[in-house]
Amino acid sequence: MTIHLPETCLVVLVGPSGSGKSTFVKSHFLPTEILSSDFFRAMLADDDADQSVSAGAFELLHLAALKRLAYRRTTAIDATNVRAESRKTLLEIARKCGVPAVAVVLNVPPEECHSRNQHRVGRSFGPEVVRKHTEGLQLSLSQLGEEGFQAVYVLNGVAEVNAAIFERDPLPIDKNREAGPFDIVGDVHGCLDELQHLLAKLGYDLSDPLNPIPPLGRKLIFVGDLVDRGPDSPGVLRLAMNMIAAGRAFCVAGNHDDKCLRFLKGNGVKVAHGLQLTLDQLATQPPEFREAATAFLGTLPIQLSFDGGRLIVAHAGLPEDLHGKQSARAKAFALYGDTSGESDEFGLPIRANWAENYRGAAMVVYGHVVTRTARWQNRTICIDTGCVFGGELTALRYPEGELVCVPAAREYFEPKRPLSEIPS
Ligand code: GDP
Ligand code: MG
Repeated sequence: MTIHLPETCLVVLVGPSGSGKSTFVKSHFLPTEILSSDFFRAMLADDDADQSVSAGAFELLHLAALKRLAYRRTTAIDATNVRAESRKTLLEIARKCGVPAVAVVLNVPPEECHSRNQHRVGRSFGPEVVRKHTEGLQLSLSQLGEEGFQAVYVLNGVAEVNAAIFERDPLPIDKNREAGPFDIVGDVHGCLDELQHLLAKLGYDLSDPLNPIPPLGRKLIFVGDLVDRGPDSPGVLRLAMNMIAAGRAFCVAGNHDDKCLRFLKGNGVKVAHGLQLTLDQLATQPPEFREAATAFLGTLPIQLSFDGGRLIVAHAGLPEDLHGKQSARAKAFALYGDTSGESDEFGLPIRANWAENYRGAAMVVYGHVVTRTARWQNRTICIDTGCVFGGELTALRYPEGELVCVPAAREYFEPKRPLSEIPS
């Protein structure tokens, strides 16, 4: 069996004493990636089997896991973890750090575990310990799927344990090997004509108008909000889907894309006017397209990191402490931006106007907030210049830093606040 690990994750081994957990992790993980309860028992009592210091040992193990995950280091927990409470603590640590957790179960027969334990020096585990662990394991197998693991892998029997291989995948948000140059496009909101004009101005080949080809070496990045309010959201989706499938573009999710996705999946969302337009437009499309668009919207990441982490793209921007994070807070910020009255993962209040306070080295390019002209604030820039409201569609060329704009043919949607009142 191939076990897929996201680039940074918490791996929780589950198996009775003697099932081979320590042997297994040693052959698949760096020694520094492994946190074993035995190790921390030995640290406290000079005896890795001294159960009397277990509480303290797990306190240390949990703290070490929290620190490693905060530094985005993959961590494997070598402990029995056959009780749901033990796993719950570990899952909470992963969630706090915005890192996914994967469970790997060593479902080895109790007789085998017991017989192996007999051969271990300094261990006095009787068969009753293994029996208790095995009972816990059987109960766990029915619950693990519901506990919050991103994936649960069950290795049944010794042969499967020995045959397992690990593959480490880069995070979907990690495009760090993509160094550019890029053309980053602001909120399109269904303005297909303006998008095509902008791409032509940027030197794209529009022989196929729904699958433009960038100038040699360049790639396109959308900051999200492809849909809603504008005249041709399906056309914009088609163009983005084609270019992304061809490896010529990237896109992060915007709040409108996210809401449209939730509607298409049948989740109850309030249909405001902008979304209703998109739904009417999608209704004229063949069902296969609606299905493909739903699948596509479901794949959009909430942020993307490019060029070795030097460029972050997130729809509503992102403060430095949330770069690379997949937590609920990172998602809320990336989709909706600064929402006041919230506190961060350490309980500190989040300051409003993150861009004003941004001191990070990575450039952050975003949209979401309509401005009349794109303007740098520290190393951040908002490139939503309100095309759908009759403003402009803007692209930022990276690394050149050059802004390229096309005017909207007309006002497609009336803004709540007239564009003329927005300071430039
Ligand atoms: P844990 O208690 O789950 O961590 O199990 P260990 O990895 O410490 O393994 C228990 C004992 O079984 C050790 O003495 C290992 O050397 C031995 N062991 C582990 N895996 C295998 C295996 O695949 N085959 C055999 N024969 N012994 C194994
Ligand atoms: Mg062990």
